[in-house]
Amino acid sequence: MNTDAFSAYESNVQRYGRSFPTVFTKALGATIWDEAGKNYLDFLVGSGALNYGHNHPNIVAPAIEYLASGNILLSLDMYTVAKREFIEAFVESVLKPRDLTYKIQFPGPTGTNANEAALALARKVTGRSSVMAFTNAFHGMSLGSLAVSGAASTRELGGVARHDVIRVPYDGYPNRSFDSASYIDYVLGDPGSGIEKPAAIILETIQAEGGMNAASAAWLKEIQRICRKHDVVLIIDDIQAGAGRTGDFFSFEFAKLQPDIVCLSKSLSASGNPLSIVLIRPDIDIWNPGEHSGTFRGNNLAFVTATAMCRLWSDKEFVAAVAKTAVKLQEHLDRLVEKYPNCIEQKCGRGLMAGLKCRSQAVVGRVHDVAFENGLLIESSGPNRDVIKILPPITITDGELDRAITILDNALQEKANGD
Ligand code: PLP
Repeated sequence: MNTDAFSAYESNVQRYGRSFPTVFTKALGATIWDEAGKNYLDFLVGSGALNYGHNHPNIVAPAIEYLASGNILLSLDMYTVAKREFIEAFVESVLKPRDLTYKIQFPGPTGTNANEAALALARKVTGRSSVMAFTNAFHGMSLGSLAVSGAASTRELGGVARHDVIRVPYDGYPNRSFDSASYIDYVLGDPGSGIEKPAAIILETIQAEGGMNAASAAWLKEIQRICRKHDVVLIIDDIQAGAGRTGDFFSFEFAKLQPDIVCLSKSLSASGNPLSIVLIRPDIDIWNPGEHSGTFRGNNLAFVTATAMCRLWSDKEFVAAVAKTAVKLQEHLDRLVEKYPNCIEQKCGRGLMAGLKCRSQAVVGRVHDVAFENGLLIESSGPNRDVIKILPPITITDGELDRAITILDNALQEKANGD
């Protein structure tokens, strides 16, 4: 395998190439091939950007046609046919069936661009500067997003002061007996708490990078109630957990939330094409024209594939199949937790956004390496990297899922026997 170009010229910052030391070339559905023709099942899925698998035929076909027909590719925020079709499909197939009404902002194409826009809007709406953010949160690598992220190593990267963030405990932090929602409600109402009223509370319903910590529906509802009571904007960062990952389109549907602002990216284009949106409660869409901008707000190829993705959610069979796969995955994981108590502490996450919290980072490292050898790509997460992230494509077939779980099972078995 020729990796000379990478080792000679790519920055030391590169990570996944070291983790999966082969050169990939083709991919379809849940499978990815390397140059030598070896196939792997992909549970890394572009870190949540390929929820619909690689090259989903319903999604790439319109893109190929679009590319081959001389259509516009980049349009800033001008009107285009592809953008109009995306907005119409998103409203009809995603928002309306869920009784949600939002204005749509198209920021720059990455997740962190969406979060920066959301934070800026919340600050403009409220005239306040601080934001409440949670332990173990991850919101991206630009300064505002770094500031609201939890991990010390991430936060320090900015190299400048990270003002205006009030850190509060996530659901279940430091343990289940602490009621963090009541704490937040109390400090916001107490003039002696020393905690000023924030512009926004920003949260992930499942903290993916933070260790697959899933908030309960009751806690999420309580946070929404607290935001309304104290006139604080609720921002849901659904960049990794949204666009179908949990089995529903939005990760907060199970808690019946109506957040003030929702950020989507990663799997929104369903093709790996960068695309982000910020969904804004109409009455707080107080942007002036051109006040927030970015060159790559008009990635029309991404609009085309995102439109195809939206239409999948109008197909009842598709929705039922995703829900069934989520149940099947959870059953598989329950069995692994029961079978390997020496390796696995507990199951975490929710739906198809799952994880296995292991007894140590060493367990995860070994399972990762053995799984890779045997044809399965998995990632770790959490502040101690002791969680195996289980992110199958939501379109994975039963046979592929069974095969991936067998590889995981064998890797755990090897680790369990080796101890
Ligand atoms: N928010 C969450 C929850 C994420 O998981 C990520 C990326 O992993 C981001 C924001 C940042 O997205 P991007 O890397 O596209 O800027």
